[in-house]
Amino acid sequence: MALTGVEIFKLLPKTNCKKCGFPTCLAFAMKLAQRQTSLDKCPDVSEEAKRILGEAAAPPVRPITLGTGDKAVKMGEETVLFRHEKKFVNPTVLALEIKDTEDEAVQMEKVQAVLTSEINRVGQLLRVDAICITNASGEVERFETLAKTVAEKAPEVPVIVSTESPDAAKTVMGLFSGKGALLYGVTEANAEQMVPIAKEAKASVGVRADDLEALSALTEKVKSLGVEDIVVDSGARKAPEILEHNTLIRRAAIKKNFKPLGYPVINFVQREDPLYETLLAGLGICKYASVVVMSSAEKWKNLALFTLRQNIYTDPQVPMQVEQKIYKIGEPDENSPLLITTNFSLTYFIVSGEVENSKVPAWLAVMDCEGLSVLTAWAAGKFTGAKIANFIKESGIESQIKHRELIIPGYVAILKGAIEEKLEGWTVTVGPREANGLPSFLRQKVAA
Ligand code: SF4
Repeated sequence: MALTGVEIFKLLPKTNCKKCGFPTCLAFAMKLAQRQTSLDKCPDVSEEAKRILGEAAAPPVRPITLGTGDKAVKMGEETVLFRHEKKFVNPTVLALEIKDTEDEAVQMEKVQAVLTSEINRVGQLLRVDAICITNASGEVERFETLAKTVAEKAPEVPVIVSTESPDAAKTVMGLFSGKGALLYGVTEANAEQMVPIAKEAKASVGVRADDLEALSALTEKVKSLGVEDIVVDSGARKAPEILEHNTLIRRAAIKKNFKPLGYPVINFVQREDPLYETLLAGLGICKYASVVVMSSAEKWKNLALFTLRQNIYTDPQVPMQVEQKIYKIGEPDENSPLLITTNFSLTYFIVSGEVENSKVPAWLAVMDCEGLSVLTAWAAGKFTGAKIANFIKESGIESQIKHRELIIPGYVAILKGAIEEKLEGWTVTVGPREANGLPSFLRQKVAA
């Protein structure tokens, strides 16, 4: 069970030395209980307390990484049932299934669909994250041929190896050894043979049982065989079961700290009808699936699922933001106009998009206002004359442009005087109120 703030406090040194950044040990304990800080911030905690608190502080859903390198994806590590309580941590991994019974041309098309699936949406790169190779034929040779194709054509893509055959697993897992693969298909019947194969390949293990009780017993068995990185499949395939089982598993892990079910969940949602499959994948994303395995990856479907996943896994308490810096739109030179806006993602993408539409190369100064939009940031005192002046001075833009003119959003025309007062030698021009007025504004400006 998770410890309360007072229980944690009893295990701390109680010297109120402030080295952890909190004014008292009690304040630190309260933050630890809310999982808003980490134990390593206190340098004086005893080894015994570390052991007890470390166990209690471990996330109720075990964190597991699929793949290695830049394309590796994390699963699990979740701490809440509802995203408004804190946030969901690791976005659902979308995996495309390729069967060894499919034509070679279809297999290649699917590999390509994964490799070309990446899109940039509000500054985040989103893609189909993994390939699940399935031994549908039951033949070792066919499975090996498919595995070799995937290993060769998509070496960086995380792989799920799906088979219940120890012979097939043994033959194929060597190709993905040390690459953070997931060996799925471990059951009560084959665990003794399959788990050592996964262990040797440094892979995690995907277990399947027909109900939650059997699933709990199976994860304990796999753990006793020496593998703790486990992904669980309750056998649910229909929408009501997926919803029910995923919820029960997450609830047991979070509310009861029930370790045998404290693992990421994998859902298999393959259907002939792509629309139905998309709905099931969406259900998995909304309700606790760490991996969703699909049979196709059309662009329209990806877009719908990427958008849903991005929304569900965005921290509801933190506005989406972009980095504070001077962005180049087109190829601006020393005479190009300089505009300023705030770092709320949506604001940045709308403003930069409209500047791009104008075809006028420009400098866009994006100021850190904690992800607030222009008017909100101004009202909150984060987008003020003095702060803007400081940002412009420290940004280094003065060495890149000859002129000294700053275009500000029309909604904060009121800031013109304050900025000019703080930014000596600069002229502030009030731009349009709405971003869609920027193309004609900028074209007129360069024509003048
Ligand atoms: S660093 Fe440790 S001992 Fe010092 S105040 Fe924080 S919790 Fe207490």
